[in-house]
Amino acid sequence: MVNIRDYLPDTSLLNETARAESIENDRLLRLIKAGRIVIPQNPRRPHPPCAIGEGCRVKVNVNVGTSRDLCYPELEKEKAEAAIKNGAHALMDLSTGGDLPAIRKTVLSTPVPVGTVPVYEAVRRAGSVQDVDADLLFNVIRDHCRDGVDFLTLHCGVNQDVLRSLKEDPRRMGVVSRGGAFHVAMMAAREEENPLWKEFDYLCEILSENQVVVSLGDGMRPGCHEDASKEAKTVEYLNLGRLARRAFQLGIPRMIEGPGHIPLEQIGYNVRMIKEITNHAPLYLLGPLVTDIASGYDHVVSAIGGAIACKHGANFLCMVSPSEHLALPRVNDIIEGTRASVLAAHIGDLLAGREDARKREIMMGKARQELDWERQFGLSLFPDIARSIHDRDTEQETCSMCGDLCAVKMVRDLFISPDGDRQAKEK
Ligand code: SF4
Repeated sequence: MVNIRDYLPDTSLLNETARAESIENDRLLRLIKAGRIVIPQNPRRPHPPCAIGEGCRVKVNVNVGTSRDLCYPELEKEKAEAAIKNGAHALMDLSTGGDLPAIRKTVLSTPVPVGTVPVYEAVRRAGSVQDVDADLLFNVIRDHCRDGVDFLTLHCGVNQDVLRSLKEDPRRMGVVSRGGAFHVAMMAAREEENPLWKEFDYLCEILSENQVVVSLGDGMRPGCHEDASKEAKTVEYLNLGRLARRAFQLGIPRMIEGPGHIPLEQIGYNVRMIKEITNHAPLYLLGPLVTDIASGYDHVVSAIGGAIACKHGANFLCMVSPSEHLALPRVNDIIEGTRASVLAAHIGDLLAGREDARKREIMMGKARQELDWERQFGLSLFPDIARSIHDRDTEQETCSMCGDLCAVKMVRDLFISPDGDRQAKEK
């Protein structure tokens, strides 16, 4: 039997994490022990800590990776660097084309936690989904752990009960999670149970040997709003609840992955239900996408859904890029998608009542009232954009929107003293 102690951060990592999150050491340790915070940190690859879960800042993951049709490892490196530069806290390498171990090594050379989905490589190694067996899958998982991957998305909750639900309560889009679809196809072709479900304890042994965090994948995330209330998703949630409990008993840190396309009004109860049945494990969401018809702007759609989800307890947002549903993202798509997710995460921090996030808002209000552009740029989530838009028209005290009719300046000069105190000026 493994023990959660194997994963507990040493004193210096604990101190560093507590400082970064503005959280007391004792509380941080208590929440880690309770399975409500994870710190993905493969000992083979030291990097600054990234705590995910209750009481921590909302974190952002960005997916990079090749496909068979577009396989340029240098482009993936550029995307990974652009994501980090724009605020990503973690990366996932979802490559399916080219030399997968070599590309993974490139992504692992970055200074952030890295996740992977081993079943992708298992399918490539086998040559077809039908030929992936349990041994191959576990071997690939072991290889990713030994390479230094910090967290693995594993679709352990896609079992025969889920398959039955898909048949009895069919969905318009079937299965849109690539990993989920692989497992469904493997199970159907081989007429076998998912080895990750059936041999979950064995999987946990591999993870514990390598101190790797499991992210219990949402293979049944709905692919359109019409599918949001179908049975398969709920059956998988219940499975994830059982697996989260078992992982906790075995001392394995785990995150839970959550829904894709769901209407805005359904976000609250979905998030709260997952949190409840997984004993408040850290929740990692793709989206939620609150409309199906904004192709090209799905990063905005996802940021809206992500912010609402944070209100109800989501902890980790997966970037959705403008090219979602359309093509493999390019560098600019990664930049735009990352920025939208960072924005949603900040709103999540505000909704969670984080004092540091609130203070920054107050400081921005003050800088705007004082027409202090340098401080406004510095406080902006994206200073370079703010500066370039402002400076393109004028470098005067006001901006070009109202020019000499600047409302802020007019009223400030009338009622507010130069030091910013809200006192009527003496005439
Ligand atoms: S010019 Fe108009 S938009 Fe610009 S700071 Fe003044 S009030 Fe705001």
